[in-house]
Amino acid sequence: MVRRRTAALAAGLMVVASGGVAAALSSPSASAATAGCSVNYSVNQWDSGFTANVTITNTGPALTSWNLGWTFAGNQKVTQGWNATITQTGASVSAASLSYNGAIATGGTTSFGFNGSYSGTNTSPTSFTLNGVACGGGGTSGGSTGGTTPPTTPPTTPPTTPPTTPPTTPPTTPPTSPPPGQKVDNPYVGAKGYVNSEWSAEAAADGGQAIANSSTAVWLDRIAAINGVNGGMGLKAHLDAAVQQAAGQPLTIELVIYDLPGRDCAALASNGELGPTEIGRYQTDYIDPIAALEGNSAYSKLRIVNIIEPDSLPNLVTNAGGTDGSTDACATMKANGNYEKGVSYALSKLGALGNTYNYIDAGHHAWLGWDSNLAPAAQEFYKVATSNGASLADVQGFITNTANYSATVEPNFKVTDNVNGTSVRQSKWVDWNNYVDEQSFALGLRNQLISDGFPSSIGMLIDTGRNGWGGSSRPTGPGATTSVDTYVDGGRIDRRIHAGNWCNQSGAGIGARPTAAPSANIDAYVWIKPPGESDGASQAISNDEGKGFDQMCDPTYGGNARNGNNATGALPNSPLAGHWFSAQFHQLIANAYPPLS
Ligand code: BGC
Repeated sequence: MVRRRTAALAAGLMVVASGGVAAALSSPSASAATAGCSVNYSVNQWDSGFTANVTITNTGPALTSWNLGWTFAGNQKVTQGWNATITQTGASVSAASLSYNGAIATGGTTSFGFNGSYSGTNTSPTSFTLNGVACGGGGTSGGSTGGTTPPTTPPTTPPTTPPTTPPTTPPTTPPTSPPPGQKVDNPYVGAKGYVNSEWSAEAAADGGQAIANSSTAVWLDRIAAINGVNGGMGLKAHLDAAVQQAAGQPLTIELVIYDLPGRDCAALASNGELGPTEIGRYQTDYIDPIAALEGNSAYSKLRIVNIIEPDSLPNLVTNAGGTDGSTDACATMKANGNYEKGVSYALSKLGALGNTYNYIDAGHHAWLGWDSNLAPAAQEFYKVATSNGASLADVQGFITNTANYSATVEPNFKVTDNVNGTSVRQSKWVDWNNYVDEQSFALGLRNQLISDGFPSSIGMLIDTGRNGWGGSSRPTGPGATTSVDTYVDGGRIDRRIHAGNWCNQSGAGIGARPTAAPSANIDAYVWIKPPGESDGASQAISNDEGKGFDQMCDPTYGGNARNGNNATGALPNSPLAGHWFSAQFHQLIANAYPPLS
C-alpha cells in the first residue's frame, strides 16, 4: 500500500400525474375510522434499474409503527433499501418502519427509498395499503392514474444523492437466491457473510470473541493456497464450509485474488512467488484452477465475491512513471503489460461464471484521490476491463482501502471547509488531495468511472476492518481554527503520522463491522484484510513465501518519497505479512470504533 501520489445528474423522473405531480393518493374523508394516508412514489430511472423515493403522509390517527404494502405490476425487484425493512414476495412488497422512524403524527410524513431492477416496463404502483388498510380507496382517487407511462429517455447516470437518514440493515427475510447464472445487483443485500473458521479461531483465542463471528475474506495469496498451505483449508474446503453455513440461504464469500507476476511492485513486504514474466503460470496454475472450483455446480448458490489484485493497477498509475516514488519493479510491470493481462484474465475467467462478483482494487483516497491520479486511474481500470477478453460486464464494482487504515468518514472536517479563508486542502495532512476520507473518495471515483464508460450499476466496497480509530485519543470535535493545520490535525480521527503510511499502524482500531448497503452506491463495508494479520515484518525474516522486508514496516525508518519522508508509524516486532500479530490485534480491539461491547 503506498501513497499517490461528475456529479451524475439525478434526473427526477417522477411518476407523472397531471401537472407533473407525483402520484398522490388521498384518503377519502369518508374513511375517517381507518388509517388514512397518501403516498408519493417517485422514481429516478437509470440504465439498468431505478431508485424509488417513497413519502408517506399520515392523514389518520397518529402512528407508532407503520407497514406500507403495494404490488408491482411488472417484474420489478427491490435490490436494496433504506429507512425501512423491505421484503418482497413475488410482486408484493411490504416496507416496515424501523426503530427510529415508526412514529408519524397526524398530518406528518416519513420517507424511505430503495433501489430496484426490472426488465420491460417499470410501471409505478398506484395502490398502497398502510397497516393493512387501503390508502385512498384503492388508488382510484387523486392522481392515481400516474405511472402508466414508463419514462422514455432514462438518464444514463444514477442518482447521486445518498439518503439523508441512516441506512438500514438489509431486510431480515432474505430474498430468495436468483436462479444460477442470474446475478443480483448487490450481492451483499439479504445475504449472510462467510465466517472463515481459521481466522475466527485465531481471533477468539486471542481476546477477540466479540468479533470472531465476523465475515472476513479468504486470501488466495499463492498457488499452494488453492489446495491449502501447511494442512490448512484450501479453496474447496472454504467453499464447502460456505455451503454449510449458507444452509440454503444466500451467502457471500469473499476471495482475494492476489498472485500477479511481480506482485507488490512498490513495496517488498508482500512480494509474491511469481517473477515479473510468469504470466503463463498465473493464468494456468492460479486463475484456471480457481475458476474451475468457483464454477463447480456444488457452489452455484453461493455469491462469490472476488477482490481482484490489491494495489496492482494503482501501482501502474502512480508508481511506474519515473515520478517521485516510482520503482523499477513497477516500471517493469507497466512495460511488460503483465499486471494488465493478469487482471483482465482474472476478470474474464471469473466473471464468466454465473454467481461471481468481481471487485477491482482501487487503492485508497490518499493514493488516488488527487485529480491528477483519479482520472488516469479510471482510464486504466476501463482499459483493463475492456481488453484481453475482459468486458465491463465482468466488473461488479471496485473496492477501496483494502488492507489500509483510512477513515471511512472523517466526522470533524470536510474537504470543502476552510479556516480564515484558507482551504483545508492546503493543510499538511490533506496536501491538496480532493478527498479526505474513503467514502467520499469511493463515490467520487465511481462517478468518474461511470463518466468514462462503466455502467451505473457498479457499486463500491470499503475495507473497514482496521479503520476505526477509537480509544481515548479519538477527537470528539473539530480542531482549533488557528490555522488549517490545527483545525485538521485537531479534528481528524485518522491519527497516522502520514496518510501514506500503511504497515501495522500504531493507534488503529477495528472499524465498522461488515455491513450491507450502508449508503447509496456503497455495496458494503467489508473486512478484507483479516484483523490481526500482519502487513509485513518489522525486520528481515527469512521465509519461503517470497515475502521481502519493507522498511515501511520498521518503526525506526524515516520514510521514503511515497510517505513524504515521514516516520512510518509501524508497530515494532511484527511478523511476516499475513502472519498473526497478537500485539496489533490487541490494539485493534482496544481502539475499536464503534467500541466492542
Ligand atoms: C500478505 C498475504 C496475506 C494477506 C492477508 C498480505 O499482505 O502478503 O500473505 O494472506 O496479507 O493477511
